[in-house]
Amino acid sequence: MPKPVLIGLIGTGIQASRSPALHMQEGAAQGVSYIYKLIDLTELRLGAEALPDLLTAAERLGFDGLNITHPCKQAVIPYLTELSPDAQALGAVNTVVLRDGKRIGHNTDWFGFAEGFRRGMPDARLDRVVQFGAGGAGAAVAHAALTLGVARLTIIDVDPARAASVADGLSQRFGAGRAIVGTDRDAAVAAADGIINATPLGMDAHPGMALPASLLRPDLWVAEVVYFPLETELLRTARALGCRTVDGGGMAVFQAVEAFRLFSGVTPDAERMRRHFASMG
Ligand code: NAD
Repeated sequence: MPKPVLIGLIGTGIQASRSPALHMQEGAAQGVSYIYKLIDLTELRLGAEALPDLLTAAERLGFDGLNITHPCKQAVIPYLTELSPDAQALGAVNTVVLRDGKRIGHNTDWFGFAEGFRRGMPDARLDRVVQFGAGGAGAAVAHAALTLGVARLTIIDVDPARAASVADGLSQRFGAGRAIVGTDRDAAVAAADGIINATPLGMDAHPGMALPASLLRPDLWVAEVVYFPLETELLRTARALGCRTVDGGGMAVFQAVEAFRLFSGVTPDAERMRRHFASMG
């Protein structure tokens, strides 16, 4: 019998994560024995300083890989032996493949957003886009936006230093002027084809929207990264106006699709994983 694929998720407060079900059900459908364990730092009463021990333990116990989430996506990097070019560029890792004594860090978050967007709005105009939020998700989403072909991305964050840091990194990788820090929100949105929310606003714990509803208009597309809940106030408001929208579920599913492929070597059925994710409510 082939050895099961053994994967863990390291992060804080991850008891409600859908990743175990998403990965294991796809494994079962593929005829791959696949075990996905939560390694919840909150439950273990540990912090990110436990990462070196946890990585060593995972290797010794025969884990094939780890997903990494908040607050460890950057903290894990010093303990890895290799980084994919994307993880290197983003300075953040959400997927670690453990193989032959190597610990190879990847970032599938940006791919998740890009793939969800491509499938959700394949013909969206991408000349000018405004992104709110330049934290961990924001850095990955901005990388995805420029990879998708956004000509000029304006990044707005309540912490302008964060917006500047993401914009600088993008300009170095994609060319000067492709990403700028937004200082006049209203003018930037008025000139935009679409907006992306990469702030936590819209979650139950962070109600509200990153921009006033009065700035939305029917010809503006709206993409969301929040996926708890799947329908945020921003999406509800935009849909009521007739805007085209993409919810945060695509990013969550397609980062898992790519991680599954990296971990197992088997290409998962992305649409089946998406249906399964949607069925989880
Ligand atoms: P983070 O705390 O690292 O970054 C959030 C950023 O938003 C910060 O820089 C903050 O200053 C900024 N911000 C907050 N309010 C703002 C406002 N009104 N206007 C402009 N900027 C504002 O958080 P994160 O890890 O980047 O996560 C952000 C959200 O993305 C969370 O809700 C998380 O659940 C979601 N997320 C979704 C996926 C997915 O797969 N769909 C993946 C990762 C994160």
